[in-house]
Amino acid sequence: MSSTTTETTAEVIVRMLKGDGRYWSTRQRNKEQNFESEPEAILIVDWTYEGEEFGFEVVIHLYHWLKDRLEYNPDLDERYRAYCEEEGLGFDLQSASSFVDAQEHLSEPFVVSTLYQKDLLSQTIFFIYWADEERNAHVILEIAGRDSIGPVAFDVKDDSTDAIFDNRCASVACEKCSRHWGTLDGEHWVPGGGSGKELQQYLVTETEREYPVPDAIGQLTLPIDLPERPIPDIGVIWVDEDDKAHCPGCGGVLEASPWPAG
Ligand SMILES: [Zn+2]
Repeated sequence: MSSTTTETTAEVIVRMLKGDGRYWSTRQRNKEQNFESEPEAILIVDWTYEGEEFGFEVVIHLYHWLKDRLEYNPDLDERYRAYCEEEGLGFDLQSASSFVDAQEHLSEPFVVSTLYQKDLLSQTIFFIYWADEERNAHVILEIAGRDSIGPVAFDVKDDSTDAIFDNRCASVACEKCSRHWGTLDGEHWVPGGGSGKELQQYLVTETEREYPVPDAIGQLTLPIDLPERPIPDIGVIWVDEDDKAHCPGCGGVLEASPWPAG
């Protein structure tokens, strides 16, 4: 394989996502994708019946998520690969782990797997995380099912030393009004501003409803703004025939994004 030192972080992540030929259909699909133009996250509505609780899934696109948090470190990666060759080891988490153990480190390296978490990422990842003596954080990271490429070494961006662990954080927001819900555990979608129902507790309807008109939401006829003015809420989430979910406040389309809003 030719030297990878000139690759950008984005190129390395694309190469990792494409993987090898063993997962042919996924590979073919990935090859045709332009990752950059993919949305950062999508909201998928589960099959639901009238009057049931809102079943949905938010999927965060791994490409964007990794690119926002990591910086490819070709020198570190080269050192890891040289280590494997010297020791006669394959490129896998085990060799990555012994490589990291042999480095100077400030904090005890640890392995993270998103496999058994209530994870929102589009693909499962495994990584070893450690901080060096200058307090710079690094990972050697592998995408599940992409074992011919094996783990790759990255620096964790300075402002992402927590964000690299937030694979269960996301938000759902209305494209029209300011309503939003956020999750830190991938399960409970707490309303922004703290009042109202959690998103997964709304009941769904297949029938379009009447929504308060924008004027009624945005303006009051009274000269004084009442602090306890309730947020308009019809109490149900309308799922249309294209499986788009609509805001219970104004009927706008609900959209997902990787970061908690607000
Ligand atoms: Zn809305």
